Amino acid sequence: MERVIIIGSGPAGLTAAIYAARANLRPLVLAGGLYGGQLMLTTDVENYPGFPEGILGPELMIKFREQAERFGARIENVDVTSVDFMVRPMVVRTDDAAFETESVIVATGASARWLDIPGEERLRGRGVSSCATCDGAFFRDKHISVVGGGDSALEEALFLTRFGSRVTIIHRRERLRASKIMADRAASHAKIDFIWNSIVEEVYGETHVTGLRLRDVSSGKRWDLQTDALFVAIGHTPNTEIFAEQLDLDQRSYIVSPDGSITNVDGVFVAGDVNDHRYRQAVTAAGAGCRAAMDAEKYLEALEFKVDSLAHL
Ligand code: NAP
Repeated sequence: MERVIIIGSGPAGLTAAIYAARANLRPLVLAGGLYGGQLMLTTDVENYPGFPEGILGPELMIKFREQAERFGARIENVDVTSVDFMVRPMVVRTDDAAFETESVIVATGASARWLDIPGEERLRGRGVSSCATCDGAFFRDKHISVVGGGDSALEEALFLTRFGSRVTIIHRRERLRASKIMADRAASHAKIDFIWNSIVEEVYGETHVTGLRLRDVSSGKRWDLQTDALFVAIGHTPNTEIFAEQLDLDQRSYIVSPDGSITNVDGVFVAGDVNDHRYRQAVTAAGAGCRAAMDAEKYLEALEFKVDSLAHL
């Protein structure tokens, strides 16, 4: 039986793994088929403390992983398919195995949201993408569109200027949500322009993207924009489907943790973007991972004490 299973391997999961491993709990990290979380899909990380020159997202996650393994964390790149938190020991299942465990840290993060408009799914991988780092290089000297007004959209747009002849950011309002530093960078970039107050209603193209149908939300006018790619950067949805029946979720499906990392189930702790729609930073997720591991350690200590006391009766 495992003492602690960590589900997820972004900054939250792997920081939890470092702390749990250093507490001699030999954590098992079920990292997901695509380990490393959202930083694996990003380029330069400039705001993670300790890297004054910045660091590439994937490189940072490899360092997290190596640090956790150095202290004895076991990391398996498999997806968890179901959990049973109502039995003791709890059970965590993958396609090929079922693991029994005394405690669990849920750090499954969040996934990119899509627009859910005609053409989007059909043309995914043929001009529609949510990952500039993965797909940007396919659009050398092409016109690229990015939808969204947050830091992600601007970060994607700035990165895409390396490839595209022009990058157009389409935002549904006339004010960006992004931080000032990112907004200033995008506004002053020669290759970037903006379409304000507009939503994308449809993506066109037979074999690949050739254009977008836009609607101006102030005038209601519809028009077509010729473009070769659409990068969608409109935020994230927490990865909580497998916990829906067992953990308390809020209206937006984020896991509720009334006190630190503690959830409504004894022995289940939560960390990172899966219960944080406010800060959503690598550094806050890492901090949350540390808290969850410390809470799990305390929980296991108390459990051991209870078992010992009963044995002496
Ligand atoms: P976000 O801040 O939630 O922004 C999402 C954007 O998409 C908003 O501008 C939103 O419009 C727009 N949007 C949402 N649904 C839409 C829809 N259906 N159609 C059209 N537009 C839609 O998400 P994010 O940009 O992914 O950022 C998440 C967090 O990560 C933030 O805290 C951000 O600061 C952080 N982050 C930081 C960096 C960095 O520091 N380098 C980089 C990336 C992300 P409205 O504005 O109208 O709501």
